Amino acid sequence: MPAATGIVGEFLALKEETDADVLAMQVGDFYEFFGDDAELVADELDLKTSEKSSQGGSYPMAGVPVADLTPYLKGLVERGYRVAVADQHDGADGPERAITRVVTPGTLLETTDADARYLAAIVDDGDAYGLAFADVTTGQFVVTSTDDVDAALSECYRFDPAEIIPGPGVRDDDALDRLRDHTDARLTLHDDEAFAPGRATHVAREHFGRETFESVGATDAAVRAAGAVLAYVDATDAGVLASMTRVRTLADDDRVTLDATTQRNLELTETMQGGSEGSLLATVDHTVTSAGRRLLAAWLQRPRRDVDALRDRQAAVDALATAALARDGLREHLADAYDLERLASKATSGSADPRDLARARDTLALVPVVHDRIVDDPTLADSPLATVLDADTRERAADLHDELDAALVDDPPQTTTQGGIFARGYDDAIDDARDRHEAAQEYFDTLEATVKQETGLTHVTVDRNKTDGWYVQVGKSEADRMPERFREVKTLKNSRRFVTDELEERERDLVQLEDRRSDLERDRFETLREEVAEHAALLQDVGRAFARVDAFASFAEHAVANDWTRPELTHEDVLDVDAGRHPVVEQTTEFVPNDLHLDDDRRFAVVTGPNMSGKSTYMRQTALVVLLAQVGSFVPADGATVGVVDGVFTRVGALDELAQGRSTFMVEMTELANILHTATEESLVILDEVGRGTATYDGISIAWAATEYLHNEVRAKTLFATHYHELTTLADHLERVVNVHVAADERDGDVTFLRTVREGPTDRSYGVHVADLAGVPSPVVDRSREVLDRLREDEAIEARGSDGGTGGGTQQVVFDLESGSLRASDDGAGSASADGGATTADATGGDDVVEARDDDVAGERTAGEGDDALSEREREVLAELADVDVAATAPVELLSRVQAWQERLDDGE
Ligand code: ADP
Repeated sequence: MPAATGIVGEFLALKEETDADVLAMQVGDFYEFFGDDAELVADELDLKTSEKSSQGGSYPMAGVPVADLTPYLKGLVERGYRVAVADQHDGADGPERAITRVVTPGTLLETTDADARYLAAIVDDGDAYGLAFADVTTGQFVVTSTDDVDAALSECYRFDPAEIIPGPGVRDDDALDRLRDHTDARLTLHDDEAFAPGRATHVAREHFGRETFESVGATDAAVRAAGAVLAYVDATDAGVLASMTRVRTLADDDRVTLDATTQRNLELTETMQGGSEGSLLATVDHTVTSAGRRLLAAWLQRPRRDVDALRDRQAAVDALATAALARDGLREHLADAYDLERLASKATSGSADPRDLARARDTLALVPVVHDRIVDDPTLADSPLATVLDADTRERAADLHDELDAALVDDPPQTTTQGGIFARGYDDAIDDARDRHEAAQEYFDTLEATVKQETGLTHVTVDRNKTDGWYVQVGKSEADRMPERFREVKTLKNSRRFVTDELEERERDLVQLEDRRSDLERDRFETLREEVAEHAALLQDVGRAFARVDAFASFAEHAVANDWTRPELTHEDVLDVDAGRHPVVEQTTEFVPNDLHLDDDRRFAVVTGPNMSGKSTYMRQTALVVLLAQVGSFVPADGATVGVVDGVFTRVGALDELAQGRSTFMVEMTELANILHTATEESLVILDEVGRGTATYDGISIAWAATEYLHNEVRAKTLFATHYHELTTLADHLERVVNVHVAADERDGDVTFLRTVREGPTDRSYGVHVADLAGVPSPVVDRSREVLDRLREDEAIEARGSDGGTGGGTQQVVFDLESGSLRASDDGAGSASADGGATTADATGGDDVVEARDDDVAGERTAGEGDDALSEREREVLAELADVDVAATAPVELLSRVQAWQERLDDGE
């Protein structure tokens, strides 16, 4: 096909210039898409395409009116596309077009929801991973760094960015896949240059000021990430750079690790099914502003370790919980507040309209009101709330308010095209233009009456429209009686339209005056908007202060309504919860509260109990109590002492992973591996069944070994729910392990779940009972009881204590496959395999800790009579089997060897 020329050629040439997915090019009153772009837009947004022919070719074409571009842009960008916009302007030889901006998921200003919308950069500078997160809709800018790629990615998941720009060192398939799996972000591979050490650092320092990063303690890697984000925002020309006035750091030692799995498991902002209803956020959110809600979400996603900072938050919540009246008053005022953080971005990007500025004025008027409410209440005045709005901020807010108040009319129009924005007395030139415009208008306002009086006619109206301008319209029956000087300009079905020379002259004047007035007002408005943009930092400060008060009040509101208490935060090694509840479940259920006590001597609780008795709930509520305490909230308990943790790790049923096509057991083990590697003595670990996804002996061995490792090596505070009753004997052998169980009562064949957590292991498995209730045939149920009883007979289990190496003093536990139960072997590992069962793992031995046999193979062997009964031939085959180096042998070769062994065994029968 010959190269396209004309409009299509121009479009394709511009498309070459950009790496955006789609180009919208202005042609007169429309933005047009051609070729593949037209088809993409048509598919995504239900737009109709037509064909545009161009020099020997025909191209699909789709277009939207200029005024309607925004919703289409938003639609495309929210679907993850990057859209370049080419605007048209008048050039020397007719219209010229150039790309003016690229709208991307992370730089989209026009959002409908109140949620934060982060653009993230990750760089690897050799020493550390630097991360920067910018919310262009509010100007929030956060940097952090960590030396571990997993921690860096987790941090990224937690911000849940709309767009991520990974630096050159973070673009391997593994990192990109993980980002894709755990976020909904668009991944954009931006120019390497933006990440280059010298340039990125320079850009960041230029923007925020040389000293800033040092004073907030940002690392080199973090500064580079900041530079990359700024360079990218600049390249897209979103015009919001100036709204990024401040940078915050997340300190490494203030961070609480919450990996992606845990964030999901604990349903902090979304439930496992997706959707926010039923999440922790939705439950505790009583905020009355968008900014308050954003802040609350950010807090819940980022618990802290800084006890002083947390106590400050607690004190504010406590004060608001006590001062009910003042709290109500504050919330009422805040409900009228406009989103100032968003406004700051709109002002800097030039998209704020007169109504936005009027709302900013009205919100700034709330500053003294909110402050007075706080200081007039003795309880609030005596709390950290008293300094939420400091004197300097209040003063500057008052100045900006007065400026806006003097400038704007009470209720300005949304657009700048009509005038009517400014208050009288603000600007002489505008007042003058307005007076003259209004005077000129006067003639038209009174014209109808004048004509009626002059002519004595009754069916007379005066109006204007786009094509005819001003006219006098007279009903047909009377039109003949119009005086001479009225010239007819149009005949309609029931009426005729007239003008006069004077009317035309006055109209010319009026149009001129109108234009002058609106030009003046528009210019002045732009200046005013720039003045407001210069106060972006102030608007963000006030916005943030209001958001804090709103979020504190929300915690207080929830605490009061649900009888939550202020937890005691400590650096000591303790977790003590008195009558704790699950914050979400208690909303809909008559909840039975439960206690928990963990400390240095009691670090690991094995939680048993029948299915559905409440094990998961108990463990999750524990994690949520800790988390709520570490965001500064009150907690659902009669009392709690929380030793701050450095991370919460969970592994619970992995249903949703199944949907992603990964084997549950693989997922389970990956999660377990992550916990064993990452958790520390200061972490809280929640394990809801481990090893369930594989054969019993595999599973029990892994669970066993993991327990030993967590207890001896990691020493994390752990709650471990299991249906392997065998594990309850661990408490006899590992000093810091305790058993608790969720009690149930069985009477006359009915199981009543008491939901009460008690010390000690559960006394029996209710599984068989449930099978009975469910109608499993009685021979099966009876036989299960028999098997169960037999399994329980032996209880010889030894665990490796923390002093355990491979040497003296430890015993290993083995399954005796004949009796089908666990029992202690005489000593070390040697005899375990000789007994032909799964061995427990070497807890100190790292990755390959588990040596276990598949159930079936082992099962078959129990049919024989133990090793002594093996024939010579069988021994030989086994020896050969043991010698095979699977990795070094071709599959075909393996097959033929297996076949040969089988033949030899068959021969031997
Ligand atoms: P398990 O993990 O033992 O199978 P779950 O924790 O899933 O059991 O709880 C089963 C059901 O019991 C859930 O519907 C839960 O809402 C309810 N439940 C759990 N704990 C309590 C409690 N303490 N008070 C009231 N209801 C509870």
